[in-house]
Amino acid sequence: MVRVAGGPPGTIDGVSLVVQKYGGTSVADPDRIMAVADHIVATRREGHDVVVVVSAMGKTTDELEALAHEVSAMPSPREMDMLLTSGERISIALLCMAIIDRGEHAVSFTGSQAGIVTDTTHRKAKIVEVKADRLREAVSDGAVAVVAGFQGVSTALDVTTLGRGGSDTTAVALAAALGAESCEIYTDVAGVFTADPRIVPGARRLEKLSYEEMLDLAATGSRVLALRSVEYARNHKVRVHVRSSFTWEPGTWIVEEEAGMEHAIISGVTDDTSEAKITLEQVPDRPGVAAKVFRALADEAINVDMIVQNVSTEGHTDISFTLPKEDLSRAHKVMEQLREDVDATGFTSDEHIGRVSLVGAGMKTNPGVAATMFEVLARESVNIEMISTSSIRISCVVQEADVVKAVRALHDAFELEKA
Ligand code: ADP
Ligand code: ASP
Ligand code: MG
Repeated sequence: MVRVAGGPPGTIDGVSLVVQKYGGTSVADPDRIMAVADHIVATRREGHDVVVVVSAMGKTTDELEALAHEVSAMPSPREMDMLLTSGERISIALLCMAIIDRGEHAVSFTGSQAGIVTDTTHRKAKIVEVKADRLREAVSDGAVAVVAGFQGVSTALDVTTLGRGGSDTTAVALAAALGAESCEIYTDVAGVFTADPRIVPGARRLEKLSYEEMLDLAATGSRVLALRSVEYARNHKVRVHVRSSFTWEPGTWIVEEEAGMEHAIISGVTDDTSEAKITLEQVPDRPGVAAKVFRALADEAINVDMIVQNVSTEGHTDISFTLPKEDLSRAHKVMEQLREDVDATGFTSDEHIGRVSLVGAGMKTNPGVAATMFEVLARESVNIEMISTSSIRISCVVQEADVVKAVRALHDAFELEKA
């Protein structure tokens, strides 16, 4: 096929280009892979160029992680990346085979071959550059380019991964680099809902969201889109369409804030059980203590999230913070050292916490939201352990066992099932 070079934005050689990303459940078994191949071929035959990003099949990434922990108490991050990237390699090859069987040309690429260049932080590398020339060439040659999500090659030429859920980021980064007309994120639900539809069956699908609203939903636990992918989409103005690979119906658009876009007071209630809480007890209340604690954690690349320091009594105070569960064992090491350095009496940690958040741009001008949230949780006998607020979100840390109850009660109380 000969094409004229150039063409309008959102095209390669004048043909419209879409990036389609398929998550783990979308390619969980051979039947799913063939269904996805059918859809890609149909998109191609409608006249679009297609670049595909895939995740590892089903629970492969979890299984590989568990396998690593069977041979090592603290697996080397570099080797973990080498191991985990093998999951996506399986899916790209199988998907290409299925597409080729259907009479279309398809070529698979690892993250490195696709030109995804990252920094050198293993397990949560950041994309620093996308050199998409090979993908452009493949597409110009009439092929569907199928790229392994969640992985790249570092500036030091090592294989890296982008953190769990990172295939979303790969897809958005490729859509930006290729100037795609949109980035379709195919998953196992029909879009972004007012709460996780697996927890709240009556949750409502949102039709359109601004990047800012989606950022807050993602930041507080709506794992339907990885937070980094939303940041990337906002920074590069990539139009994202989250939709189902099971029903193929239209889903949720995430786009730039538009004039006249309506904002609900609350766009959603989210939950997150991926964090743990550490409390440093009875630290002397004097300048420099918090600085010392959080510098030491930062130096170990531990992502601290919420922080609460109590009012001091008799010159001593407790400092609590939340952090990803996977960073907990490294944090314990830091805390043992810190306890002596800052003269604390000790520290405790709790892995069984969860965070429930209300997110919504309209909250800014509706002062009663926090009060209602606390009343609802009280009515459900849910104890609030920590609270943090911003102008458009309120988060409460509660016991993990109370999360489902809390999410359902809040969704109900704020009548989120209604448009
Ligand atoms: P994939 O493997 O396709 O990347 P994920 O499991 O990462 O899929 O993300 C999809 C899941 O996100 C859904 O199955 C759903 O349970 C969960 N989820 C959490 N919050 C929301 C929400 N607000 N809207 C839609 N899905 C949500
Ligand atoms: N397979 C990786 C994960 O399970 C990346 C992804 O699916 O986005 O986190
Ligand atoms: Mg995901």
